[in-house]
Amino acid sequence: MSNPLFFICYLFPFIIFSHASKNNSDEFNELPEFHVNLEIRNLPNGKYSMYFDDMEKAAKTFESVMNDKEFQKELLELNFHFDTENDPNKVLSTAQIVSKIYDAKEENGDSGTISTADIYWILKKAKPRAKWKGINGYRNKGSKFINTYSYYFRNSLSSNNKHDIVGHLAHEWSHTLGFLHKNKPHDNRSKTVPYAFGNLVKKHAKKYQN
Ligand SMILES: [Zn+2]
Repeated sequence: MSNPLFFICYLFPFIIFSHASKNNSDEFNELPEFHVNLEIRNLPNGKYSMYFDDMEKAAKTFESVMNDKEFQKELLELNFHFDTENDPNKVLSTAQIVSKIYDAKEENGDSGTISTADIYWILKKAKPRAKWKGINGYRNKGSKFINTYSYYFRNSLSSNNKHDIVGHLAHEWSHTLGFLHKNKPHDNRSKTVPYAFGNLVKKHAKKYQN
């Protein structure tokens, strides 16, 4: 045991090996485990309660995607575009934006739990004009609620496009973190945080669609 060769032969490989495995875990585990906390707002007449199970499933799928390593890798490779003047997020790097998303500090209705999305979700009947324009839903500035149109929700379920709902949920939720985009369509709108993040969630949600 006192032979110094013991250290060279037995301890060095151990030190090198443990160092290598540490690097490995840094690379693959840098984002925290993510949780989704869903609260569904029930309408007084119980309307749309038949969709509550599907809303729960969509929120669970969103959680699975956020913890999906392939999704995280692609998210960290995105180049975001900012189309709104005085947007304070403009100065953030992709890594900082991703870290802001995973911190999940909503502007309103934050339970204070780190890396937990607090989602307040309501289904609503769309006005004919919104339906005609193909609008999925909306969020009023400063409100914690995500409003989704029932016609869009129902159509997505019946056309086997549940992953689209998950992308929509991610898009609207990112607004509660303060990410913005212009309403008017333009060439780079798909690169704004809500659209790019929502579309990537939608893409990976397909794997979890059930
Ligand atoms: Zn939006």
